[in-house]
Amino acid sequence: MSASAGVLERETPVVRVEELGAQWARVRSRLQAEVGDVEYRAWLRQITLAAVDAEEVTVCLPTRFLRDWVSTHYADRLRALWQAETGDCRRIDVRVGATMLVEPELPAVERQAAVPLSEDGARPDGPARIEMRPDLPPHLAAPLEQRFSFETFVVGKPNEFAYACARRVAEMPASPAFNPLFLYGGVGLGKTHLMHAIAWELSGRAPRVSVAYMSAEKFMYLFIAAIRAQSTIEFKEQLRRVDVLMVDDLQFLIGKDNTQEEFFHTFNALIDAGKQIVISADKSPSDLSGLEDRLRTRLGCGMVADLHATTFELRISILEAKAARAGVAVPPKVLEFLAHKITSNVRELEGALNRLVAHANLFGRTVTLETAQEVLHDILKAHDRRVTIEEIQKKVAERWNVKMTDMFSARRARSVARPRQVAMYLAKQLTSRSLPEIGRKFGNRDHTTVMHAVARVDELIKRDSAFAEDVELLRRMLEG
Ligand code: ADP
Ligand code: MG
Repeated sequence: MSASAGVLERETPVVRVEELGAQWARVRSRLQAEVGDVEYRAWLRQITLAAVDAEEVTVCLPTRFLRDWVSTHYADRLRALWQAETGDCRRIDVRVGATMLVEPELPAVERQAAVPLSEDGARPDGPARIEMRPDLPPHLAAPLEQRFSFETFVVGKPNEFAYACARRVAEMPASPAFNPLFLYGGVGLGKTHLMHAIAWELSGRAPRVSVAYMSAEKFMYLFIAAIRAQSTIEFKEQLRRVDVLMVDDLQFLIGKDNTQEEFFHTFNALIDAGKQIVISADKSPSDLSGLEDRLRTRLGCGMVADLHATTFELRISILEAKAARAGVAVPPKVLEFLAHKITSNVRELEGALNRLVAHANLFGRTVTLETAQEVLHDILKAHDRRVTIEEIQKKVAERWNVKMTDMFSARRARSVARPRQVAMYLAKQLTSRSLPEIGRKFGNRDHTTVMHAVARVDELIKRDSAFAEDVELLRRMLEG
């Protein structure tokens, strides 16, 4: 679509549309990084660039509602980002329409960014002013999320070791004891976050250091593309010139023998040359069966640090930090509720909180437990599927050495009644079943019995720390 085909009368200066497209793509992806995926998808996905001149940038949204929302909530950020990108722009004009100066989805240029640097080499506070490292080909300088910094990483027992190692590498790259740094852990526990944080930190400390961060998948594609283009020698040389190489999600290379081989050589060349390597994977080097033995051995030669599953306490701290950053007051009860319900992965926890925040902003209402349950209905349901009441009953029965049938029986001796109450309590906490539903699963008991059990266990948890620990342990077992 050409600029003149739209609804806008204002004259658009002659622009290199390609360049403009790339700039716009970068502005959008930075905005996306700032506001998070959930918010971005909700409000900004359909935004198009309609016109640009030195004074004003015009963007369009398809409905009045979206226009008003974007205009009040994002216009300032858009202006600042555009200004950082191009150096000018006084105003952002948000209109209703479908005018499009450049294609909305620009492929590769999106998020194509290197390590950001400000003039004095310090990390800028505002939107990153991205400059390509002169000596680093742009395709090796993969996107860095602005928000993945050490400052925004919440440290707790499960991740303190990995965090300390990452910090150490950022401060003193390529010291032998920490080279390679191998970070591993389950999905959404902060591996990528820590890698980006290392890159940010390094770029602030030592602007001349060239850092290449990429996923193992990207490494493979680059390698294959180099083979096709008969430029493998160049590819190797480029990689061997970097000071720090980070490869994320190395497990992707399992079964990709040629790429593994190439990676192995690059790895050796860089280590031998005293360059830092940082790797992440979902398992420890020794458990990555399917990787060549010699590669696995070398991967384990430096520092291996794992990110453990989050604890309840860490999840609460993360939620508190993110709510504070979003500037929204979320009652402790709601944070606790989320931290109990969403246990597997910080990304999902974050997504849930973002959605709550967006909802609160949209309707101008405060966040309550009820709105949280309502707004997050689908997420919570998906999490519930993992734990069934039967599993809870079985685990609880095992723990207190009672028979499974005692979960349904009418026996009221304390030795069976107490475990039964704990099972009801956990059923209420870990599933989305209603009180009557839970009652039915416990030998057709009344919902008031379940209510009583929940209150009783709550009370005991407060009074008896050994009991509280027992219950917490069971919860973790069931959730894990
Ligand atoms: P991984 O690479 O291990 O799958 P990510 O690093 O992509 O996980 O983390 C997923 C999301 O959770 C990111 O948005 C990240 O910022 C967030 N996150 C994970 N751990 C933490 C933490 N300790 N503090 C703050 N945010 C975290
Ligand atoms: Mg990752």
